[in-house]
Amino acid sequence: MAKRDYYEVLGVAKSASQEEIKKAYRKLAIKFHPDKNPGDPTAEDKFKEGAEAYEILSNPEKRRRYDQYGHQGVGGNAGYGGGGMNMDDIFSQFGDIFGGGGGFDSFFGGGGGRGGRRTKKGTNLRVKLKLNLRELANGVEKKIKVKRHMIADGVTFKTCSTCQGQGQIKKVVNTMLGQMVSASTCPSCEGSGQIVDKRPPNANANGLVVKEEIIPINIPAGVSEGMQLSLSSKGNEVPGGIPGDLLILIEEIEDDELVRDGNNVVYDLYLSFIDVALGASLEVPTIDGKVKIKIEPGTQSGKILRLKGKGIKELNGYGKGDQLIHINVWTPKEVSKEEREKLESLRDSENFKPNPGQSEKSIFDKVKEFF
Ligand SMILES: [Zn+2]
Repeated sequence: MAKRDYYEVLGVAKSASQEEIKKAYRKLAIKFHPDKNPGDPTAEDKFKEGAEAYEILSNPEKRRRYDQYGHQGVGGNAGYGGGGMNMDDIFSQFGDIFGGGGGFDSFFGGGGGRGGRRTKKGTNLRVKLKLNLRELANGVEKKIKVKRHMIADGVTFKTCSTCQGQGQIKKVVNTMLGQMVSASTCPSCEGSGQIVDKRPPNANANGLVVKEEIIPINIPAGVSEGMQLSLSSKGNEVPGGIPGDLLILIEEIEDDELVRDGNNVVYDLYLSFIDVALGASLEVPTIDGKVKIKIEPGTQSGKILRLKGKGIKELNGYGKGDQLIHINVWTPKEVSKEEREKLESLRDSENFKPNPGQSEKSIFDKVKEFF
């Protein structure tokens, strides 16, 4: 199923303020909350869809990426945690939306079907991944070496004695409206309800050790510098919770010959005056390897040749950019006596005097525009 636009999901305008986004999401979350719609998978899907949209649009950086690149720009690609928010992620988000402490349950009157236990999430790991132009354009499978905090072998857990495994501590407060129960996250176990019992000597107080792991990742074709992919649950583990994510920041390694310009690839081709005057056949590099091209006799310097579809695949669609070949005429810096004589003999030829017509002028205008 195609992913819906996040603004459409929340029913807000693209220009919506953070407050409007929060309000829209709160409404949607109440309407489709699973506790209110038991056994209705459509409601659960809508609930998750809304949570994902809120997760992105409530974060200015993610929202900016989404506005610019669409779902792919925020890791919405299949296999990168797209739609990958699980219920625990969603409920941990509610602290922000419905106020801390009791969270969603107290919003519903406290008697909700979900316990007070809040799922802890491990911290995210961030790595930079340098890719060359061909890898960015065609996609690539990479193996990334990371050092993760992981629960050590042999660690055992026991029920937290502070909260008796409830994950939160309830307090009864007397107010004008009668008795109210307020709940806060347990400070001993941070809400997981469990604490470390036995641990091996190499593990830290939380039962964690640092382990090196090699994680394979498929980079989709068309990514670009500055994009961030996220692999859910490949970050640091946390006792009694779910692992954080692995965030992969894409960096571009500059190519010696080809320069990226959006989805197009630009190549500067230097030709001798002889080649442009008489025409030539030659090979140029592209992201898919060498390609033969023909230079027509009488080609002007500054002309741009277009190799259709030899550019970079559009990340969000089916289109592909082009390769643009910018023709430059190379002038020799020095000439021999013999060469000078030959060139001098041509100096006064009418044919060699510049006489740009409308079509040539437009080439030069285009070049100005292009750069
Ligand atoms: Zn506790």
